[in-house]
Amino acid sequence: MSALSFQLLTSADQPLRRGLLAVAGKPSIATPNCLLSTVRGAVPHLTPDMLARTGVHALQISLDHFADRKPSALELFPGGIGKFLNVEDYMVVCDLMETAGKEPDMSCSEKYMNLRTLAGHRKVSAKEYAEMARACDPDVCVAPCDPIWAAEAAPTQSRAHKASRRTVKFLDIFLQEMHGKPVLAVLQGSHYVNERVQSATESSKRAVDGYALHLRGLERPASVADDAETPDLLTLLRSSTDHTPATRPRFAYGVSSIVQVLEAVRAGVDMFDSAFVNWATEQGHALHLCIGSEVDGPATYDVIDLWSSDRRREFQPFVSGCECFACARHTRAYCYHLLQTHEMLAHVLLMCHNSYQYSRFFAQLRGHIEAGTFDGAYTAFVAAYENWKATAPKATTSPRPAVPTFGTMVPTAERTAQ
Ligand SMILES: [Zn+2]
Repeated sequence: MSALSFQLLTSADQPLRRGLLAVAGKPSIATPNCLLSTVRGAVPHLTPDMLARTGVHALQISLDHFADRKPSALELFPGGIGKFLNVEDYMVVCDLMETAGKEPDMSCSEKYMNLRTLAGHRKVSAKEYAEMARACDPDVCVAPCDPIWAAEAAPTQSRAHKASRRTVKFLDIFLQEMHGKPVLAVLQGSHYVNERVQSATESSKRAVDGYALHLRGLERPASVADDAETPDLLTLLRSSTDHTPATRPRFAYGVSSIVQVLEAVRAGVDMFDSAFVNWATEQGHALHLCIGSEVDGPATYDVIDLWSSDRRREFQPFVSGCECFACARHTRAYCYHLLQTHEMLAHVLLMCHNSYQYSRFFAQLRGHIEAGTFDGAYTAFVAAYENWKATAPKATTSPRPAVPTFGTMVPTAERTAQ
């Protein structure tokens, strides 16, 4: 029997849903909710005690970050990945893909996934990935896939079809090798509704515990004009979720904006990674996310650029009323000073604040779904977001660090790991 359970708290025919995701011995997670993305097993900038203050109880860990050695230290450690990384109180979701970067960190052939590791490229079959996953023993593992989510040009339907076919083939091998451990099937199809339906239908025939969808691949590609008749995000997501059982959880990967989260919640997605939050933090941005309520105030979307010299004399919290560790103790002016002097504490405070805001936003979402007021709140928040886009100041010319995704750590002179 699977160790992962999902209890749907709303009617199965209702697209807006709340649920309870649970793993034995760990805190249950009310959905919709988020999991924090990690780099080599750690949430960037956060120590365990700071991580505990974010209010998040699930982590996304990419096993390819440890694939530079074979077997990796993770596989050799007898207590499992949770104990190895000192995150035993968190639900650990493992996968084989980097979602925080702008480009996929692996390519694919009929038999292998070509991973980019610290020591160079490494070919891994679905069977080898299952061996890694079994040794690491996470709470949930995302099945292997043929990634196409960040292609420069729009993927053709032929490419999308091939990716779906390979993904189902990998899934079958993976399920056979995982011996009943909880597995999420990856739903493919890119921008093609019929391909998405087919991928979801095929995956639903398998005994999986849930599903994973890539949001990043659904952004309109640069090569497609704005007026092209590309289905909108909600239509694409529903073409997947409508063809999977409502009783199983759905995870979204590669979240690049908060509006994507809202659209995916409308399509019935339950869990979201934090790629968007990690990027905001690395850019020196403090997020203000409020979907709006009598308690929390009006719908608000704001991005406070702490590199801007406007912050020099702002002796106030990042966001007034925010109850995070950073806002309770420090000011925008202090964080501006920390960024200018390249102090690591700047990003610690920003990550603490942004993760808390993200987690809090999901709590507000759940409240609106429970109260039946989601639609009004959605409209108000999207209006606030569009208003911010129209009026937000242009980026400053202040120096900023390069965003340290895992891929940037790959040495220039790559060598083959095996
Ligand atoms: Zn805060």
